[in-house]
Amino acid sequence: MAKQDYYETLGAARDASAEDLKKAFRKAALKYHPDRNPGDKEAERKFKECAEAYEVLSDPDRRARYDRYGPEGVSGSRQSHFTGTEDIFAHFADIFGNGFFQDLMGGRGGPRQGAHRRVQIELTFEEVLHGVEQTIEITRNEVCSECDGSGAKRGTGPATCPYCHGYGQVQQRRGMFVMRQTCPNCRGAGQVIQDPCAKCSGSGLETRPAKVAIRVPPGIADGQRLVARGEGDAGEHHAPRGDLYCEVRVKPHPIFTRDGDDLVCETPITYTQAALGAEIEVPTLEGKARLQIPRGTQSGRVFRMAGKGFPVLSGRGRGHELVRIVVDVPRSLTDEQEKLLRRLAELEAVNVTPRRKSFLDKARKYFNGD
Ligand SMILES: [Zn+2]
Ligand SMILES: [Zn+2]
Repeated sequence: MAKQDYYETLGAARDASAEDLKKAFRKAALKYHPDRNPGDKEAERKFKECAEAYEVLSDPDRRARYDRYGPEGVSGSRQSHFTGTEDIFAHFADIFGNGFFQDLMGGRGGPRQGAHRRVQIELTFEEVLHGVEQTIEITRNEVCSECDGSGAKRGTGPATCPYCHGYGQVQQRRGMFVMRQTCPNCRGAGQVIQDPCAKCSGSGLETRPAKVAIRVPPGIADGQRLVARGEGDAGEHHAPRGDLYCEVRVKPHPIFTRDGDDLVCETPITYTQAALGAEIEVPTLEGKARLQIPRGTQSGRVFRMAGKGFPVLSGRGRGHELVRIVVDVPRSLTDEQEKLLRRLAELEAVNVTPRRKSFLDKARKYFNGD
């Protein structure tokens, strides 16, 4: 598949400013928005492409790499990771929040829905293993406690909009047609506030800190998102609340790394353990476990401890723990150790292992030029 040209996709010039790129992306979002193109897979695909393009070009570092090296310069760095249009809106919540679509698509009017909010949560490997409930503290728009969201001063109520007489719509005659549109005075509510609440100046909203409990399922990975419906900003005058999107960051672990559902651990053993075989102790996320190292284990060999990895997020079972053996060469020796190793070296000079022998043969050939 040919790589898309990000500028072309967005319909932006190569020297477009950050603001121009944002405008181009908003325009594309309007054009391909699923509400306007219901069930249209092609529109959805194009919208995903635009999101991908914008994600790269809106980041100055990645844009510079893209300009210099083309798509190869930015490949591998979290490309095409959007799962769907909803995911894209969540990711760019700051661009699409605050009634962006209502405003631009006209039509709907009325009080604005609350904005979606985005937060990051940090998890440890242990929390990923067991799942966790995290409490997130955010400051968000809440229904004004003084006027209970009406926006009107306590004891007064909203009055009928004088412009539309409470219908929320106004009619305009254009030739033989009668056009109806949302009343610009009350934005479709049919009511206006004459005596605004002093606390919220009539918006019906105030900012307050809030705590939201987020249930994180076991096995979640870095970069994935969780959504808490209705936990974003409160809407104007009791319009629906926005959602809270939580982007998961998994903190690096001092001894483990992660590969999908598998846990990876490098474990040093001594030269003698490798040569003679040993039972060693290895760390797991749930304490220590024992592992049999057979005689003649080479450095770099990987042993699999079944079921000691992370739970599979969307399914059953668990990944494995992969133990990568590293043969440790001693940095200092006691006199006794040195004596024994020197004795061993003398033996090795005559009794070379087959692998070492073939290496020595190759080396000799290389230096002799034949
Ligand atoms: Zn108020
Ligand atoms: Zn009105």
